[in-house]
Amino acid sequence: MKYLNRDTVCVQGGYTPANGEPRQVPIIQSTTFKYATSEDMGKLFDLEASGYFYSRLQNPTCDTVAAKICELEGGTAAMLTSSGQAASFYAIFNIASCGDHIVSSSTIYGGTFNLFAVTMKRMGIDFTFVSPDCTKEELDAAFRPNTKAVFGETIANPALTVFDFEKFSAAAHTHGVPLIVDNTFATPVNCRPFEWGADIVTHSTTKYMDGHGAAVGGCIVDSGRFDWTKYPDKYPGLCTPDESYHGVTYTERFGLGGAYITKATVQLMRDFGSVQSPQSAFILNLGLESLHVRMARHCENALAVAKALNSDDRISYVVYPGLEGDKYHDLAMKYMPNGTTGVVSFALKGGRAAAETFMKNLKIAAIETHVADARTCCLHPASSTHRQMTEEELTAAGVPSDLVRFSCGLESSEDLIADIKQALDCIGR
Ligand SMILES: *Cc1c(COP(=O)(O)O)cnc(C)c1O
Repeated sequence: MKYLNRDTVCVQGGYTPANGEPRQVPIIQSTTFKYATSEDMGKLFDLEASGYFYSRLQNPTCDTVAAKICELEGGTAAMLTSSGQAASFYAIFNIASCGDHIVSSSTIYGGTFNLFAVTMKRMGIDFTFVSPDCTKEELDAAFRPNTKAVFGETIANPALTVFDFEKFSAAAHTHGVPLIVDNTFATPVNCRPFEWGADIVTHSTTKYMDGHGAAVGGCIVDSGRFDWTKYPDKYPGLCTPDESYHGVTYTERFGLGGAYITKATVQLMRDFGSVQSPQSAFILNLGLESLHVRMARHCENALAVAKALNSDDRISYVVYPGLEGDKYHDLAMKYMPNGTTGVVSFALKGGRAAAETFMKNLKIAAIETHVADARTCCLHPASSTHRQMTEEELTAAGVPSDLVRFSCGLESSEDLIADIKQALDCIGR
C-alpha cells in the first residue's frame, strides 16, 4: 500500500512480510544463491529473469533497504553502496568517462572535492567548480559541449550553504544534463530534491540515516525523470548496446525508471565491487526506522545551540541555515521549512587558540572526525581535516582557522548548552 506520510515509510517502507515471515528485515548473509539448472542461471546473467546469484551484484537485504530509501526520496530505483564516497563516484562515473566534464558546486564535502578534483581528474574527467551563490550567467558559462552532469549538496558539509535547487536544475536542464544532489545533511525527512528538479540523489548513509555511528554506507536513488534517450550521443552507455553485458541497451530494456540504476549495478558494481554488507544494511535499516523522530530532535537541538551561541559575546559568528539572519535562511525556509540539519558552525573571538582551549574542555561533546551521530561531537577543521592548509587557504575553503563544527546529537539541549558555556568559561583562565 502507498503510505500517506513519509514517517510511515521510515518505519515500514521497503518490506512487507507475508504470512509467517520474519517481522524484522532478514539478514541474508550469503554470497551466493542456488539454482536447479544452468539454464535458470543463464537467464539471470542475460537479465531476462530477475533473481539473485551473487551478492557483489545484488543481495536481498541490501535491496530491501535500498527500496525503503527509494520510497523516502520518491524515486523509481535505488542501490546501496559500501560508502558515501562510492555513491558519489558511481553516480558520476555511470554517465561520464575520460574526456567528459562536470559542473559542481564549490561548497561540497572535502572527500568529494578530493575525489572530483584529484582522483577523477586523473581518470580524465574535468570538473568546473562554481560558487553556490553564482549568478545564472556565471553558471551558464561553466557548461561545455562535453558536460555530462551538475552536482551539489543540499546542505554542504562543512560550509552549511544551502543549494539553490531551482537555479541549478534550470541550468542543468537547459544544457540537457541531469542534476545530481548529495542529500546527506538534510535527509529525505527534511528535503526531497526530486521535488525541486534534481534527477539523481546520493547519500552517505553513514551519517543521519544510520545515525548511531555504527556502519559506513552509501546509497544512490534515481528519479527516473531524466530522459537519456533525448541525448543518445551524450549518453551512449545508456542508449546503445553494452557489449560488456550481452549487448543490452539499458534504456530500452529497463525504461527511464530502471536504466540508470541497472547499469550502475550490473556494470560498475560488477567491476568495482563497492558493495554494502547485508549486516551493515540491517544496521542502516534500524537507523532508518527512527530517522523522522531523530531528525526533528537533531534540528531542535541545533537551533537551540545556535541561538545560545548567537547571544554569547565570546562568539564572533554562528553559521546555521535554520537560524534567522543566516545568509542561507531564506533558501532554507523555501526548501526545508520543517528543519535543516543538526550541524552548527561557529567561531570564537579568541581565534584558533580559544577554539582549541574551548574544545579541550567540552565534557559531553567529543572531538571526532564524524557528524550526524546520536552523540554530540565536534571538530576543529584547521587542526585536523584541513591541517595542511595555510591561513589563506583555510579562509578560501570556507573553514577559517577559528571555526568549530559542532554536530548536535540527541541529548538534552539544556545539557549541550551548559557544556558549551562551561567550556567557554575556561578560555583565558
Ligand atoms: C561523509 C560524507 C560523504 C562521504 O561519505 P562516507 O560514507 O564517509 O564515504 C559524502 N557526502 C557528505 C555530505 C558527507 O557528509
